[in-house]
Amino acid sequence: MVRVRFAPSPTGFLHIGSARTALFNWLFARHEKGVFILRVEDTDKERSKDEFLREIMSSLKWLGMDWDEGPYFQTKRLDVYRDYAGRLLKEGKAYEEEGKLGGEKAIILKMPKGTLTMEDLIHGPVAFDMSLQKDLVLIKSDGYPAYNFACVVDDYDMKITYVIRGDDHISNTPKQLAVYEALGIKPPKFAHIPLILGTDRSRMSKRHGATSISDYKEAGFLSEALVNYISLLGWAPTDNREMMPLAEIIKEFTLERVGKTGAAFDINKLTWMNGEYIRTKDAKELIELMTPVLAAKKDLNINNKAKLLEVVKLFQPRAKTLVELADSAVFFFSDKVEYDEEAVKSVLEVEGVKDKLKALIERFGALETFDLQNIEDCVRKLATDLNIKAADLIHPIRVAVTGRKVGASLFETVVLVGKEKTLERLKGALDKTR
Ligand code: GLU
Repeated sequence: MVRVRFAPSPTGFLHIGSARTALFNWLFARHEKGVFILRVEDTDKERSKDEFLREIMSSLKWLGMDWDEGPYFQTKRLDVYRDYAGRLLKEGKAYEEEGKLGGEKAIILKMPKGTLTMEDLIHGPVAFDMSLQKDLVLIKSDGYPAYNFACVVDDYDMKITYVIRGDDHISNTPKQLAVYEALGIKPPKFAHIPLILGTDRSRMSKRHGATSISDYKEAGFLSEALVNYISLLGWAPTDNREMMPLAEIIKEFTLERVGKTGAAFDINKLTWMNGEYIRTKDAKELIELMTPVLAAKKDLNINNKAKLLEVVKLFQPRAKTLVELADSAVFFFSDKVEYDEEAVKSVLEVEGVKDKLKALIERFGALETFDLQNIEDCVRKLATDLNIKAADLIHPIRVAVTGRKVGASLFETVVLVGKEKTLERLKGALDKTR
């Protein structure tokens, strides 16, 4: 039975790199019908915080990664580590050392000589020259286990069969192999996955943009899009498809198809993919997902749910994030338009626009039924009468009504904004013309 674990240290939010590690473990477990375990490595007293743990767990859940066992907490297993360390002391494989700052005696492992080899499923066999390793602290003088010891004891005790983690842990592996050897137990299989890089190929960090999963949630990304995108960071299906429903990813996920070289995180690609997912989603579901974003917007009075649904359907084909989609609702439900300065300059502050807007106000005002057909006919007729292109009316209308130069279909937008508000905004825009 395959047993894997995700072992976060709650010393920060769940970032993209750790989420990818969690995801690869989870996908592998689901593919193999194995067990996915959550283990909290909280032995760093100073830096571990409940707040981080809560965020990590809620981000995992939001991404859909459910765990079958745990969370296990290392701080609740101190006796277990002490027992194992005691055994090594008794066998003469470890020794005690007086702590510099008092406290308990630390327990230190003597390093073996020669080389130890790790069989890595991604990198192949890697040999470590153990003469380069210093003796290893197992239990610190504060009574807590060191990471490399607790990790091995837990992986053994929890019957982990595969350790899938970031490449940055390769340097810990010889230390862990020494612990396995001293305990006389067989190490699990290792799969060290390549780091995530920024588009400039350096290790991904804050400087490349948001790194925590909660930032992406807040920025209006869908969890399905994020999971799909992250799954492709270092892994690819046989046919190199990109848009893949989760069930397909699970079906195709094998460690053989994880690459050796770093995978670049490309926000533009993630954003594109998010737009694709938004398009396939049910509009009602999108509204639900947008609720917190909409609630945060002041001056927004969404009094008409049916209209909101139409607005979402209108903008769904072009929105790339939920935040963008929510922004588009603003033209319809807010009393004032926020004008994009550049749009005003290049479209409204142009010779002749004042007269065009005046003519539009008159003709729109005269429309009995303010529907798609009538509005479109009206605009085209006015263009013919003035001997100009329809676009020369459409652009000023768009900026006057939405404040922006681009957006969804103008006529549909105007219908949804409604006659009263459209006229009000066209009149308001007269002040911005020359
Ligand atoms: N707590 C370690 C980390 O967050 C886990 C390393 C491992 O998976 O062995 O990096």
